[in-house]
Amino acid sequence: MDEEIPVDVGLIYEGERIRKSSMYVDLAGPKSKGAELLRVVPPEEVEDGKVEVIGPDVDQMEEGGRYPLGIYIKVAGEKLEEDLEGVFERKLHYFCNYVQGFMHLNSRDIIWCRISKDAAKKGLKLYHIGKALVKLYKTEFDVIEKIQVTFYTDEKAVDEHIARARKVYEKRDARAAALKDEDVDVFYSCLLCQSFAPTHVCAITPSRSGGCGAVTWFEGRAAVKVDPSGPIQEIPKGEVIDPVKGEFSGINEYVREKSNGSIERVYLHSIFDYPHTSCGCFEAIAFYIPEVDGIGIVHRDFHGVTPFGIPFSTMAGQVGGGVQSQGFLGISIAYLRSPKFLQADGGWQRIVWMPSQLKERVRDAIPQEMYDKIATESDAQDLESLKEWLKQKGHPVVERLAEEEKAEEEAEEESQPVATVPELTLPAQGVPVAGAPAEFTIIFKNAKIYAEKVIIRRK
Ligand code: SF4
Repeated sequence: MDEEIPVDVGLIYEGERIRKSSMYVDLAGPKSKGAELLRVVPPEEVEDGKVEVIGPDVDQMEEGGRYPLGIYIKVAGEKLEEDLEGVFERKLHYFCNYVQGFMHLNSRDIIWCRISKDAAKKGLKLYHIGKALVKLYKTEFDVIEKIQVTFYTDEKAVDEHIARARKVYEKRDARAAALKDEDVDVFYSCLLCQSFAPTHVCAITPSRSGGCGAVTWFEGRAAVKVDPSGPIQEIPKGEVIDPVKGEFSGINEYVREKSNGSIERVYLHSIFDYPHTSCGCFEAIAFYIPEVDGIGIVHRDFHGVTPFGIPFSTMAGQVGGGVQSQGFLGISIAYLRSPKFLQADGGWQRIVWMPSQLKERVRDAIPQEMYDKIATESDAQDLESLKEWLKQKGHPVVERLAEEEKAEEEAEEESQPVATVPELTLPAQGVPVAGAPAEFTIIFKNAKIYAEKVIIRRK
């Protein structure tokens, strides 16, 4: 693609995975930190084509090392608008993965990148990746007239970049939260993740952004304007089938077609029956906990285990791939702030567990009366301790639990055996048993006898 870049660049490398054994360095990711941000700025703020690395580049990094990473892209163009930032930012994931020997996962402030040993040996540096990004963005989007790429690997610079990026994410999410599904006639779809989850179709509405968090309804609208035949398309809303569950005929028809008939119906605001499909780059997972009839939420940055005893990564492996998983749902962090957040399942009244870091991050979205009733990893590490915690705090699910327990007790009482005998011998004369002689004996060992009625007759 470019003589300056020592490796190949192309769509063919998109699915390339770099395992730990073939990794030269790890950048950002769960054991370090990082963020990516793309901004539309005035043309005078962009030095077209410039690529900068603040901190050590790959050739100054130690093999096997782990480094923080910030990616900051500024674009300018007459037809560009701020609403496009999220869509262009999401493209970063795909463009980075076109570079042979470079792997990019996730989005926003949960990115995770790797450079392979082979690529490092060939001399690949972040600088080259920046050069590739400049070309790829300009080739795919002719509305981008100027582009400048900066990588940060210096820890202080990465921290500053993360803080700046989070402010922008919050602003984007807050804008999206002000609009509701009923305020618009058209929704948007995103098919970007079909490259690895072929039946996955993100339905993007004002009350529900894409699972990766990078594409809101506003960004969908802006994307269709600049790239009408791109991966983001309009979905006519159609008829409202269920306003609480969030079922719309327009979404059902569109998803049925784009998933090749695999997905028939979608509920936008429920994790039961017909939940939205999950691709793999969702920021968090909502999961049903039958033992307490509540819902837990775990996000990608949490490294501990959920009350099920499994971490996010294991759960994500079972949930993703573009399927509808009953009781599991990949979501964006922004969706936790939606006024329609899982409204068909009880919303925040049904949430029983989430990591403390996430709980703090979305504190403003949690109803005040619920905040202290939602357990974190410090309060409950397994299902038993979770159950106890919820009882102590008088969580709304407890009432339902108590009713269920009562019903179970009653059912048990009703089914108490009328007799328990260690051994019971019955002559079975007249009982037709295939292949048995006409007269024989049946011996029950440790028998528990249940009967609807016991009648004792005097002889
Ligand atoms: S998660 Fe959804 S919105 Fe985000 S890139 Fe994938 S398909 Fe698009």
